[in-house]
Amino acid sequence: MPTTPAELEALAAEPLKSASDLAGTFVKQDHPGVKPESEVEKILANPGFGNFFTDYMVHATWTAEKGWHNKVVEPYGPLSLDPAGSVLHYGQEVFEGLKAYRHEDGSIWTFRPSYNAARLNFSNHRLAIPEFPMDDFLASIVDLIAADSRWVPSKEGETLYLRPFIFASESFLGVRAATRYEYLLLGSPSGAYFKNGFQPINVWVEQEFHRAGNGGMGAVKTGGNYASSLLPKMEASAKGFDEVLFLDATTSTYLDELGGMNVFVVYEDGKIRTPKLTGNILPGNTRSCIMQLLTRDGVDVAEATIDLKQLLADIESGEVVEMFACGTAAVVTTIGSLTGTDFKVTLPKHDTSKAIYDELTGIQLGTRPDTFGWLYRLA
Ligand SMILES: *Cc1c(COP(=O)(O)O)cnc(C)c1O
Repeated sequence: MPTTPAELEALAAEPLKSASDLAGTFVKQDHPGVKPESEVEKILANPGFGNFFTDYMVHATWTAEKGWHNKVVEPYGPLSLDPAGSVLHYGQEVFEGLKAYRHEDGSIWTFRPSYNAARLNFSNHRLAIPEFPMDDFLASIVDLIAADSRWVPSKEGETLYLRPFIFASESFLGVRAATRYEYLLLGSPSGAYFKNGFQPINVWVEQEFHRAGNGGMGAVKTGGNYASSLLPKMEASAKGFDEVLFLDATTSTYLDELGGMNVFVVYEDGKIRTPKLTGNILPGNTRSCIMQLLTRDGVDVAEATIDLKQLLADIESGEVVEMFACGTAAVVTTIGSLTGTDFKVTLPKHDTSKAIYDELTGIQLGTRPDTFGWLYRLA
């Protein structure tokens, strides 16, 4: 299983089997009653984010004797879980997030799924969860889309958000890695992530709480990191801020990331920097793609240790003109201001963020050239 961001990049670059070669890995079960077309249409008219789910879901189970088995596409619905199911007690869980896009000609695609497949195992390794084969990860998306294709929106800005996850389902209260796990994949039609479109967000710089510490789980996609971010996010939200920027847990001096998005800093001279992956920062697919696109276009983009005090001084002097956050759900979000207990600075520019947003979404929607071969055809 991959244990470094470099190994994630290498696995993401490997050739993938085609959808037709993978189709049928997960066996479709009968559905007692899919949603009527009129209801699907109503949902797709204004889905929001994470509110609605498709007719089906993918499910597989792991046990020591059988490995991953019972691979099915089954009706979406509640799971049956013993109250002693270990995820409920010790949080042994990992997840991923990617999207299915409908192109102008009706075809359905996803974006660089090999990165997500590799990163699921990067997370699995840290949480002591068994490896989930990359082919099965891809096949689960192919088979869900085959069953739920009418749920992939065609309206501008809308996608089908895909949420793969694995959790420990063994009934056991002892503290050790479980001996039984479930893999699930959900589809959720999604509108624009931020309601107000490409508007600058106001960010609270969190100087008390941290989302993750050295040697912890900050680099992997697990619910626990989100649990630790909820209180600071709730407090920032009560003060009127949209998002929280976390600092390094050792010294509260350097920029880490925004709890669910990576961050970039744009200098007046055109250079762009993003925090170096310290082990407490999640290696984002969007972050990786943005670095590759900017490098392709001749921009001086690099990882760096970004000191908050220096950054604030550079914003005040005009040396730093723009900042943005990025992740699969929102793609690129430009930052309007940074506020902390004893400072507030505003960022004057947003055009680089917008250009990167347009380029990435253009590639995803098939309206701009996919020079890196990131698109994968699902149907
Ligand atoms: C998922 C996630 C990101 C963004 O990663 P993408 O692969 O670009 O979606 C950033 N930070 C955290 C903590 C995340 O969980």
